[in-house]
Amino acid sequence: MWYAHYVAGSPVKRLYFHRNPNNARQQRWQPLSNEIEIEIEDDNEVVRHRTGKLFSSASFRLTPTYIPLPKDYAPFSPFSNGDVAIYSGRFFACSVAPCDMTSNHYPIRLTAPKNEHIVIQGKIHASDIEWVGRNSGEQIYVGRIQPKMMSGLLAIIDPALPSSILSSLTVDLPILMQFMQTNLGELQNQYAPTLFASFAREFANPNTKSTQGGTLTDQIFTHWDLNQAQMDEHERTFDQNSTLWFLAHEAGHFYQRSHAKPNDHNDAWIHEGMAEMLAYQALQQHYTDEAQDFLHQKVLDATNACHASLTETSLVNASEQQKFSTHYDCGLLIHLAVEQHAERATNSSAIKVWNNYVTMTAQGAEANTQTYLEAIAQNTSAEFAQVVFAFIQQTHPDPKAAVKTLFAAKLN
Ligand SMILES: [Zn+2]
Repeated sequence: MWYAHYVAGSPVKRLYFHRNPNNARQQRWQPLSNEIEIEIEDDNEVVRHRTGKLFSSASFRLTPTYIPLPKDYAPFSPFSNGDVAIYSGRFFACSVAPCDMTSNHYPIRLTAPKNEHIVIQGKIHASDIEWVGRNSGEQIYVGRIQPKMMSGLLAIIDPALPSSILSSLTVDLPILMQFMQTNLGELQNQYAPTLFASFAREFANPNTKSTQGGTLTDQIFTHWDLNQAQMDEHERTFDQNSTLWFLAHEAGHFYQRSHAKPNDHNDAWIHEGMAEMLAYQALQQHYTDEAQDFLHQKVLDATNACHASLTETSLVNASEQQKFSTHYDCGLLIHLAVEQHAERATNSSAIKVWNNYVTMTAQGAEANTQTYLEAIAQNTSAEFAQVVFAFIQQTHPDPKAAVKTLFAAKLN
């Protein structure tokens, strides 16, 4: 059982949450006082006094259950021994809506149960810490597993994970991280990046399973929720290539420098497509024989999926149409086409274009499609950058022809 206590500097009318994926807090957080409630206002959860009075504290009891949230990270990722990774961003709250994204500042204190340690920002602490949460927040481990250093990663790996996953994390992930470092440059971190890999069976419904992964600043995390039968099935049908792709995609994000990540989700083709591209190239280079058919199929699937979504929406509007995966599928194709043109035009590559773009954003250019198109133009031609621009902006009644043009454009 966990408790969340909010204390305001001066009395407030409402507490608003920084992240509002759905109404799970309203359903699951139990106020310790019956004067406090969580209600929905303007589609967001808010904490308020039942009578509308000002209040200066609010406390809740919560169970550390794994729940998948739409487009957000799970609040708790339990380990098989009862330890837990906690996602701090879930708890960020402010007194004025919407929470200010630019001067965000959330002082937090975390107290762990006796005999358990806390791992945050690459360091191991005894049972009590204070820090200021910012931006998207971080994963924090609370429990008894001793983290291990592994290829520069501080790793907290659930020993109960199926052996196929264990070997992917301890053998393959370091290879993939090394690929990213070689191609995208060393991380300039203040502290060791951390890997969280948790595994627990929580869903009561035997047919439900879930895996979730993501990256936050200097963190990569994955959670599996499988029952015994699903775990046996997983071992029997373990698809090494899909796992490698998933890990490579996440490892790629890890090296993508936060200043290069676009704020506008309509520009997500840049970093999501590039994470797919990096996965493609890492597997191509390090798992050449065993991954060949898989990679071929992966590009075919991305092409078909991209065709299908472009029939209904342009890439720039895909997010608004709830077709976020279009950024992965069409994004991969764009970066593959860039690779082809960059090689031909300047003997460079899609990764070189990405690195140029990262440099531009480090020097103050905005992380967006326009800056990326400039990086493309520098390594290919202004004409090809124009073709990519049209591909992104327009709707395509004939998407097959549009993808073809992307690759086949004959340019000077
Ligand atoms: Zn991604």
